[in-house]
Amino acid sequence: MRGVVFLGDRRVEIRELPDPVPASGEVVVRMRASGICGSDLRPYRASQAQTTVGGHEPCGTVAELGPGVVGPKIGDRVMIHHYSGCGSCKYCRIGYDQLCVHGHKTYGFGTNGGNADYIVVPARCLVSLPGELSFAEGAAIACGTGTAYMALKKLDVSGRDTLAIYGQGPVGLSATLLAKAMGARVIGIDVSAARLELARTLGADEVLNPAEGDPVQAVQDLTGGEGADATLDCTGNATARAQTVRSARVFGRACFVGEGGTVELEPSPDIIHRHLTLYGSWTFPNVGLEECARFIADRRVPLAKLITHRFRLDQAAEAFRLFDAGATGKCVFEMD
Ligand SMILES: [Zn+2]
Ligand SMILES: [Zn+2]
Repeated sequence: MRGVVFLGDRRVEIRELPDPVPASGEVVVRMRASGICGSDLRPYRASQAQTTVGGHEPCGTVAELGPGVVGPKIGDRVMIHHYSGCGSCKYCRIGYDQLCVHGHKTYGFGTNGGNADYIVVPARCLVSLPGELSFAEGAAIACGTGTAYMALKKLDVSGRDTLAIYGQGPVGLSATLLAKAMGARVIGIDVSAARLELARTLGADEVLNPAEGDPVQAVQDLTGGEGADATLDCTGNATARAQTVRSARVFGRACFVGEGGTVELEPSPDIIHRHLTLYGSWTFPNVGLEECARFIADRRVPLAKLITHRFRLDQAAEAFRLFDAGATGKCVFEMD
């Protein structure tokens, strides 16, 4: 099979690799779509090569069952929860394999991922893809969109809320789309004019560019001087994170999902004296993927509009170069 590896310093290579063979309890999934996520930019930009296949948003059809697999059938359309832990500790049992007390594998980071013709995973990582959704939509849900969904759930976003979202990359844009479906008024914030345009297309009521003025002040101006009911950081940028906290109103809620980096806050004025609730949210449990997919299918959320670029695997160099420039919506590989 073919698989795409990160060589370091923004280079990628398509390699010919042996087809995976399922061990006991494992399944081989024929990849039909694999999404590119902001987290992929870390190994892409790193100086060191990653020797395993990248891609942690895998979606496809079940191709082969290992010994002892009960449940999945050949041909089932599936997304993959891209972590696997021991399967029996208290966190694995509630679907949070990424919190496994015995450590976990992450597909696409150190374990072969989805940018390939096939992937092998334990059967318990499979999550059914609703018939209404395409493989490319399933790939988006398998990390970025699912992450946005769980963060909104944690923030308890509803039609009563004005939600300010810092960062309108694939996760922030997904949050815009989903928060609109949940009834909220959305303020989308990004330094890229192209991404703000996309945010408008996906339903943002207001868009703000921090390059054109203080976004905290602008959020206050849009909310009668109060600040947003809920705020979400999808950037991982120190300045944007602090602005996320400061854009929330008194008794408001803020959530961080953007990875890496740092933040500097003044707890008394920023959090304590404003009775703020600050959440962290790291992707989703296995069942969260299923719930997100069902939400999108049942409400006919136009997730396909999030996907702005589609590539074949042999276009990997071009795909990562374009995504790295920070002006696209979701980019996905599609295999036929
Ligand atoms: Zn475990
Ligand atoms: Zn991701």
